[in-house]
Amino acid sequence: MSRLEMRKPVSELSPTPDDLMELVAEEYPAVEPAPVRAKPVYWLFAPLAAVAALVFPRRLGPHLAASGWLAAYFVHFVSVLVVIVTLAILVMFAHMQSSDIAPSIPSTGALVRIALAWTVLLGVSIADTGAIPHVGVGVALFEGALCLVAMALMPLLAAGESRGRLYGRCIRLLLWSTATLVMPTILFSLTLIVMGDRNTTVPYTVVAALAGLAYGASVLLRLGSRYGGKPTGPGFEPRALHCEDCHYNLTRQRRDARCPECGRPVVFSLPERREMPPFAAARSTWGRLRTFLPTLWASLFAKEFARRLAVHRGRAEARRFAVWVCTLIGLASAVTCCIWTIVMLTVGEHRWSHDAEFELLPISVPGYVSDLIVVPIAWGLGNALAVFAVTMLAAWLASWLGLRQPARRGLVVCYASGWMIIPSILSALAGLALWLVMEVWNPTSAIRFPVVGLVDVAVIIAMCIVAVPVAGLLLWFGHIWRMLHATRYANA
Ligand SMILES: [Zn+2]
Repeated sequence: MSRLEMRKPVSELSPTPDDLMELVAEEYPAVEPAPVRAKPVYWLFAPLAAVAALVFPRRLGPHLAASGWLAAYFVHFVSVLVVIVTLAILVMFAHMQSSDIAPSIPSTGALVRIALAWTVLLGVSIADTGAIPHVGVGVALFEGALCLVAMALMPLLAAGESRGRLYGRCIRLLLWSTATLVMPTILFSLTLIVMGDRNTTVPYTVVAALAGLAYGASVLLRLGSRYGGKPTGPGFEPRALHCEDCHYNLTRQRRDARCPECGRPVVFSLPERREMPPFAAARSTWGRLRTFLPTLWASLFAKEFARRLAVHRGRAEARRFAVWVCTLIGLASAVTCCIWTIVMLTVGEHRWSHDAEFELLPISVPGYVSDLIVVPIAWGLGNALAVFAVTMLAAWLASWLGLRQPARRGLVVCYASGWMIIPSILSALAGLALWLVMEVWNPTSAIRFPVVGLVDVAVIIAMCIVAVPVAGLLLWFGHIWRMLHATRYANA
């Protein structure tokens, strides 16, 4: 709503005159839809359900979350055990390779038997060397980290239930989602075992690990995208209409009146004034593709965007928006990395040919594949995951560690994630500028500072350049704050 609109007589505002004569209702329906009817899974069948959930996470999520702690911990225990056994196989292979035993790949049955033997041996040696307290501390730290991650998930998975229920659901889903670690660990170990040679394998194993992480995160988000359980919590209670500026209770006020407390027209606080952004309203992938950039552009104008944003519905769509932003940043950084490598291979070769230290060896075809395809994919995946982690962290902090209105604040931070494109572009430009300064210009002089003493000009320039993307990231918090402020009393 612009300032000009604020000054208009109420009769000129968008609703029809008939609507304006009505009084504000005493009660508005709850913001959350009715929960899914959840059918808990019996703990003995939990591993089977966990495997099925890897394929249908959205459909099975509410049922898994509603199953008891025993089922969740059972899946967690089995998954962690399989991961340890797989890593034991990996250690065994490394040992065989280093001790010159021909590392031919045995059959699956043999692998499992050897791995189990190794796990038992590992357990015995741990007990023998008295390392049990260390292992205990390690396990405690791991489980403690899970509890923290579950807290960080609260703003992303909130569904209007009470705080305690939400936390319990996040922990249970996190325990169930440890099943996603199994496949990536096996893939990761297989890449290492099959490809052997350390130098060329590194990018492949990094890609395998990052892809596994991305897959796990996406399963986790989809597991929590629907809520099944008791409809208790702030989101399931009917509510009264409040002024969106001052939170004054507007019940029984005439719609054409102004708020008695702050003078804001009542119509501006009606739930109908808020709507889902075009990206969230789109029903098909094509629709989302068409509306993504306009929504992204609109979201950069934080306050204007947030004044019309419906914050109590469309949370799955908001999360999808954040994931799309991360994917876009990942794709852009992968392409930039690829172009950069091509530039370095063509321009760099010319320059380095005079430099004995950097003389280029003839690069093999696998080397090119690794440099031009695998490394950019690893870089893009890493960037996308980093942006997602930063968004998650921001949502966690913005919702006071998940304790204050996590549903609304999580949604707002998801839409604010579009801003992350700015620091990403700035850091790419900063990288280019740093390269130009250090490699092309190569400043050598130094400046004397009163306290610090002599500082290289190159270091000063580098710090100035790096400060630009960091400033962009810090301004992001202001962006989030403006959006949170404009939605603090939102009625829809
Ligand atoms: Zn007011």
